[in-house]
Order: sequence, then C-alpha cells, then structure tokens
Amino acid sequence: MAQTVLKHAVSQESVAADLDAVRATVTGVIADIRERGDAAVREYSEKFDNWSPESFRLSDRQVAEIVATVPDQVIEDIRFVQDQVRAFAQHQLASMGEFEVETLPGVRLGQKHIPVRAAGAYIPGGRYPLTASAHMTIVTAKVAGVPRVVACTPPIRGEIPAATVAAAHLAGADEIWLLGGVQAVAAMAVGTGTMQPVDLIAGPGNAYVAEAKRQLFGQIGIDLFAGPTEILVLADDGADPFTCAVDLLSQAEHGPDSPAVLITTSREVAEATVAEVERLLPTMPTRDFAGPAWRDHGQVVVVDSLDELYELADAFAFEHVEVLTADPREALERMTQYGALFLGEGTCVSFGDKVIGTNHVLPTRGAARYTGGLWVGKYLKTVTYQEVTDTASQALLGRLCGRAARVELFEGHARSGDLRASRAAGDALPW
Ligand code: NAD
Repeated sequence: MAQTVLKHAVSQESVAADLDAVRATVTGVIADIRERGDAAVREYSEKFDNWSPESFRLSDRQVAEIVATVPDQVIEDIRFVQDQVRAFAQHQLASMGEFEVETLPGVRLGQKHIPVRAAGAYIPGGRYPLTASAHMTIVTAKVAGVPRVVACTPPIRGEIPAATVAAAHLAGADEIWLLGGVQAVAAMAVGTGTMQPVDLIAGPGNAYVAEAKRQLFGQIGIDLFAGPTEILVLADDGADPFTCAVDLLSQAEHGPDSPAVLITTSREVAEATVAEVERLLPTMPTRDFAGPAWRDHGQVVVVDSLDELYELADAFAFEHVEVLTADPREALERMTQYGALFLGEGTCVSFGDKVIGTNHVLPTRGAARYTGGLWVGKYLKTVTYQEVTDTASQALLGRLCGRAARVELFEGHARSGDLRASRAAGDALPW
C-alpha cells in the first residue's frame, strides 16, 4: 500500500503509558468504593469534582425545580430529538423477532428477549454537559422495557447541568444522581448504602469512565467500550477541504485525547484541509481541547486509490467515519469496521451526536472490530427455551443425548437422556 503521511499522531507508547496510569487510578477507586461505599463515593466526588451535596440523588421536587429553569425552546428541542431516538430504537426492537419453531415432531424451540431489571445510564459532563447522551442511554433503555433506569451525570464546574437533568427526566429516568466519573460507575455497579446496584451500565465517557466500565464488566454488564471520541474523514479529490476541516475539529473539541484523522486520495485536499484546520483552530472557543487533540492525535494520510483508502479506513476501525467521496454509499459495501457511517456531505457526525436519531454511544479504540454501538438490543437478554411433547422425539433425543454425553464422559448427563428415552419407549433403564 502506497501511503504518504502528511501528519503523524504522538507515539503509541505515550498513549499506552497514559492508559496505564488511568488503569491504576480506576482500580484503586473501585476497590475503595467496594470497601467503604458511600463514604468513599463522597470523598472521590470531592476530590475529582469538588462536589459534595447533602444527597447526590435528586429528589422529585429538585428535579421539577431544575426542569422549570430550562428554556422552552431547549425543552422542545429535547422532546424532538428524543422522538427521533425513540423511533429508531423502536424500529430496532421490531427487527428483533421472538419466535417458537417446531424442529422435530413435538420439539418446540423458542427465543425471547427479556430486558435487564435495572440499567445505569452514564451521561458525561466533565467538560461539556452531554445532554444528548441522556437521550441515547435512557430513551433506548425505556424502549427496551427496562423498569429501573438510574441516570448519573457529574456537575459541570460546580454547576447543575439543568438541560441534562431535564433530558434525563423527559427520557423517563427513574432516578437522577449528580455524580460522575469512576465513583458514579462503581457506585452503580457494586451498590452503596444509598445506591441500589444495577445490572448493566451504558453510556460514553472519558478514559476513566470507559476503564471503570471495563474493569467492572462481569459483575455487571456493559454496553461497550465507548471512550474518547474518534473521527475519520474519507475524502476523494472532489471533497471540500473546508468541510473536512470543520468536521475534523467538530470531534477534536471533545477533548485532548480525541483522534481526528483524514485519509484522502488527493494530496491537494490533504494540504488544503491541514491549512483550513490551522486557520480555524484559533477561532474556536473550544481550542484548548481541539488544539491538543489535533496536535497529538491528528493524522493526515494520502493514499493512491479508493481501494487503499477503504482498506486503511477499516484498519483504523474508528468510531465515526465520514465518507466525502463521489459515491459515498460505496462504503456500505466496502467497509466492515466502524461505529457509524456518515454518507456524503449532507450529513455529519454532529447530526449523529445531537439530533438525527441513530445512537451516538459508539465503540472506540478498535472496539468496532467486535461490536457496534449502543442499541436497544444491548439492554435485552436474548434467551431460549425448549419443550418436547412427542414421545418418539423424546426416545430419539434421549438416546442421542446418552450417546453424545458418554463421548464426553458425562455419565450424569447421559442418565438424564436415558431416563427420557426409556420412559418414552417403555424400556428399562440401562443402569
Ligand atoms: P466524563 O463525565 O466522562 O468524565 C468526567 C469525570 O471524570 C469527572 O466527574 C471526574 O470524576 C472524572 N475525572 C476527571 N479527571 C480525573 C482523574 N484525574 N482521575 C480520576 N477521575 C477523573 O466527562 P468528560 O471528561 O467531559 O469526557 C466525556 C468523554 O466522552 C469525552 O472523552 C468524549 O469524547 C466521550 N464521548 C464518547 C462517546 C462515544 O460514544 N464513544 C460519545 C460521546 C462522548
């Protein structure tokens, strides 16, 4: 593959060293919260967020008072977006058929989907109040039928994120807690004196939040590894460098650890995009995040052909991929590793993040190799059941089970099969 790298990211060793430090911090906080519960939660909230209210959980009255402060237009917009997210999740649910099938005479096999009893919805809020994450996590859980949804979001620089609280409330959260970071994830997972534990935690977050979910997986379910946001822009020689630059920066502003990458078949588009990024950066109020993200994690690669472009794009396995080529729908056939595709200049990652209705909680750091993003199915347990009523089938399967189990030296399993076979055929048991 012929590639010219116009701009490199920082070395993978330095990224790995940062992750090691995050891992160590997270392990310590989780262990402490496991041992000391609410007292430890309060200490870490004070330490990391300078936040120690009388109760981290908002009462119904507090929620109503906070929602009342949110401007009407914001409430109207929240309702509109939640309707889009709900409609898409309902289509997903409808696509997940439950069924019962007769595979042999009197042998009925079935599959159904059962929602988890309690889900935690993590809504990030360290740098920005990520109101849209409330739609993505809570609306989708409620479409799945989760009876108890616990929403956690941190205060933002000591302030209550009113629009996020309103979004969580309108989405149907059963509990709203102003708590963030590892302490929120750990409290939801292990439970404390004041927090009843949940069965699954969903939602995006920074490296600490994503790592906490990863370490707690097993004790609870998690949706996926949804850490610092990534954007990959794919451009051919017809792409508009200004659009490429605007959209790269739209995701770099998430935080200094957010990779923003351009792969293009055109050196001219590459150079013009880099120039536009440098020109736009100082104009962005969020340049303190976007600047370091572009400096340390921005990459620009020029390839010789569209074949190479798609091959490299798949190798990145990025969260968001914008396709700004003459035939963007081609990516649907040619790519297999991404969280979400944004086809053509008419849409953008920001539509997916904020308004359009597909879920914005998406895999990062290569997790797109094995999972898609958050969807209604993540809140559901797909279970099976079986029933055998025909005696001929009982005899057939019973004998088969006896033979198959003895191949594996499982005499106890074999006897269960023998019992069904003998009962159905009226034979004596062979043991
Ligand atoms: P956040 O809510 O994820 O994290 C804030 C919390 O981090 C704070 O409450 C604090 O307790 C904790 N924290 C901060 N520094 C710490 C430290 N040194 N040690 C221990 N804990 C610490 O909010 P954020 O920081 O703004 O990050 C949001 C993230 O979510 C961004 O990285 C963004 O890219 C990502 N995101 C991902 C997706 C996705 O689907 N993958 C979607 C949206 C956002």
